[in-house]
Amino acid sequence: MSEAVGQETERDARALNALLARVPAVERVIASAAAQPLIAEYGRTQVLAAIRATLERWRQDVQANGQGGVPATGQGEAEPFAPERAIGEAGRYLAQRAQGRLRPVFNLTGTVLHTNLGRALLPDAAVAAVVQALTQPANLEFDLATGKRGDRDDLIDDLICELTGAEAATVVNNNAAAVLLALSALATRKEVVVSRGELVEIGGAFRIPDIMSRAGAKLREIGTTNRTHLKDYEAAINARTALLMKVHCSNYAISGFTKSVELDELAPLARARGLPVAVDLGSGTLTDLTQWGLPAEPTVRATVEAGADLVTFSGDKLLGGPQAGLIVGRKELIAKIKKHPLKRALRVGKLTLAALEPVLRLYQAPEFLRERLTTLRLLTRPAAEMQTLAERALPTLQRALGDAYAASVEPMFSQIGSGALPVDVLPSCGLVVRHAGKSGSGRALMKLERALRELPRPVIGRIADDALRLDLRCLESADEAAFIAQLAELRL
Ligand SMILES: *Cc1c(COP(=O)(O)O)cnc(C)c1O
Repeated sequence: MSEAVGQETERDARALNALLARVPAVERVIASAAAQPLIAEYGRTQVLAAIRATLERWRQDVQANGQGGVPATGQGEAEPFAPERAIGEAGRYLAQRAQGRLRPVFNLTGTVLHTNLGRALLPDAAVAAVVQALTQPANLEFDLATGKRGDRDDLIDDLICELTGAEAATVVNNNAAAVLLALSALATRKEVVVSRGELVEIGGAFRIPDIMSRAGAKLREIGTTNRTHLKDYEAAINARTALLMKVHCSNYAISGFTKSVELDELAPLARARGLPVAVDLGSGTLTDLTQWGLPAEPTVRATVEAGADLVTFSGDKLLGGPQAGLIVGRKELIAKIKKHPLKRALRVGKLTLAALEPVLRLYQAPEFLRERLTTLRLLTRPAAEMQTLAERALPTLQRALGDAYAASVEPMFSQIGSGALPVDVLPSCGLVVRHAGKSGSGRALMKLERALRELPRPVIGRIADDALRLDLRCLESADEAAFIAQLAELRL
């Protein structure tokens, strides 16, 4: 190594050390006045760790880039490594870390019961009951009449029976659990007859054949995808048959040359052979939705009346309650289900029961249902309301988008979601954004979609037909101001 180069290296090393020496010690930073509010909010342990990480990053930057690793000083700032600056960085890191992972979003997808966005939103009465159950002891398994141990199921069984016309009822974690439990209790090592047209996959890995094998039951497929006849059921019944089962084709429709056996046709056959009929209703509504102009869905009561011995359905789909699986049906079948060991594993918690009861009670006063049951209110919201919202939001949105995009108010169609007929749609209205440029529209829309997702309360829309669509059906009036205000923060 030449002498000149050696001297230069030494100078560099000295300069680097001088730079590194300017990075303050962690003790000095944490003792500074600026650190105190952070310590009050997050506690000393977290603040100390965050400051340490910040200072370490500064040192690494300087080590790697020399003078280039020194942060630029802003206006009125003399010292690039000022303790206040370290506190600022540590504070931003801590704030980000403290943000909840489960965050509220705006569901502007147009799908009201969106499984990925948490399905049904609960009415105030349910929220209040959950808060109470969270903060106060309750008679969850305590019989107030006798002072003895009680059964959590007894709390709302009679209410479910009243609303469905069933003899008995029980509740588990979700409808998938309800089906698994029912099959485990009634059909293990036996055969269950199901039409090939009803071997559905619901999504999230719920498939009837898989659930069947998990329950130790043997699936006896009959008919074809498009056509199944009563004689197919008849021919399949044998000494090992435990159940005849019907599954609601929640998320698809078969049309054209089709034939399926309706429950009122199947039930007499089952009765004649001494076999129960179980129906997985999926969404299962407690009220006739056509009275509000919504698509027809079989009610649980009609299903029971048509001869189902067992019906399973979800709590957080059309029913509008918390995640739960409801099982209703004949007394002796429900008793068997409740005695099965899996029932204990799949049982609901007190929060679910607390939320479910007030939702069920809303059905006792059908006059107020549309107004008080959030799901029904959203499903029946007139398009004119969404149009008014969209027109009010349009100017702010267009300003936030700049010239690269063009926003407009347009009619569109919402979906019920979560397996009510996918072919039925509800007239709605919303904001539609198209890219103004001739090319690169796809990428521009994806950029916009991401920017909306990165807002403080993420906005979830959908891209279709070369446009980003924000269906305002699920934007409640109370949230309108917050929605419009944060559009100004859109970073494109
Ligand atoms: C939705 C659905 C299920 C699953 O219900 P979860 O409550 O989501 O567990 C099962 N069967 C049918 C027919 C459904 O529509």
